[in-house]
Formats: sequence, C-alpha cells, structure tokens
Amino acid sequence: MKTAVYPGSFDPITKGHLNIIERAARLFDHVTVCVMVNSDKSPMFTLQERKDLLRKSTAHLPNVSVDAFGGLLANYARDHECCTIIKGLRAGSDFEKEFQMAMINRKLNPNLESLFLTAEHQYMYLSSSAVKEMSYYGADVSDFLPEEIIEDFIKRMNQIANNKEANP
Ligand code: ADP
Repeated sequence: MKTAVYPGSFDPITKGHLNIIERAARLFDHVTVCVMVNSDKSPMFTLQERKDLLRKSTAHLPNVSVDAFGGLLANYARDHECCTIIKGLRAGSDFEKEFQMAMINRKLNPNLESLFLTAEHQYMYLSSSAVKEMSYYGADVSDFLPEEIIEDFIKRMNQIANNKEANP
C-alpha cells in the first residue's frame, strides 16, 4: 500500500492546501494530512480545531485521514510506514526552504521521498496568513477557503476583532 503524509500548520486549511490534498489522494492509496505542532507560531485555531476543520474539508475523500504530531516528520513517517512526504510548491520562495527540508528528511530517514506538487495557478500566492490578514481588514475571503469552514473562520475572525476592540 502506497501511503503519503502531507504536513503543515493548516491554520486554517485553504483551497490551495485542499487542491494539493485532492491531487495527492489520486496518486496514493492513503494520504494522512498531519498538523505539525510548531511552538514558534501563535495560531488562530487550536490544534484540535485545525484537525476538525481539515476533517470537515476532506470528508469527501475516503482515503484521506487527519492527524497531528509534535516531533520530527521523518520519525512520524517511519512509525506510520509512510514512504512519501507531500509538499506544495508555490512561487520560488518555497523552493529553498523545502529543498533543505527534503535533504534533512532524507538524511534522517533514507527510505523517505519528498514529492513536490506545484500549486494551481489561482492559488500560487495563497497562504493561510494572507487569508487571515485580508479577512482581518474586511476583505471577502470565501474564494480562498473550503466552503465547509467559512462559517467557523468568520466566527473566529469576528471574535478576534471584538477582542482587539475591547483591549486595543
Ligand atoms: P502556509 O501557512 O504558508 O499556508 P502551511 O505550513 O500550512 O503553509 O503549508 C503546508 C504545505 O502546503 C506546505 O508544503 C506549503 O508549501 C503548501 N501550501 C500552502 N499553501 C499552498 C497553496 N496555496 N498551494 C499549494 N501548496 C500550498
């Protein structure tokens, strides 16, 4: 069975992420989308919320599951018998960082391949942080988020805006 893991912060999942997940699901028997715990970032959604939003958005894909992990991805892949790491490549800026990560992961686990899927042109410049920033300043971001999560996203963004207003 060919299995792959697609790691990221997914804070929250965007249509760019979903496009990569759908394409990976066609290439592999099973794809695990893995929310990586990154202590450097202060996320908009908790780990559990990010997993729930991913599950809602991928419910139509029977061979996709969602997990979370706080250690080294190479170890996660080894322990879960995943042979491939999936990464989405946007504009050139992703390349250097991802190339370095692929080298490191291969060194840590020589059986592990990194597979890069190029971003769909309409999502080339899309990131979770861009969506959050646009929405914070009042832009409509419904073209960029999976339909299933738009309500949750707007609700949380309103809470954040109200908190800021109460505690400027
Ligand atoms: P970000 O916070 O920048 O959206 P994540 O850590 O959640 O990034 O991204 C996880 C993976 O998804 C990375 O491999 C990243 O390059 C990829 N990715 C993010 N956004 C897109 C997109 N719009 N199109 C294709 N791949 C993407």
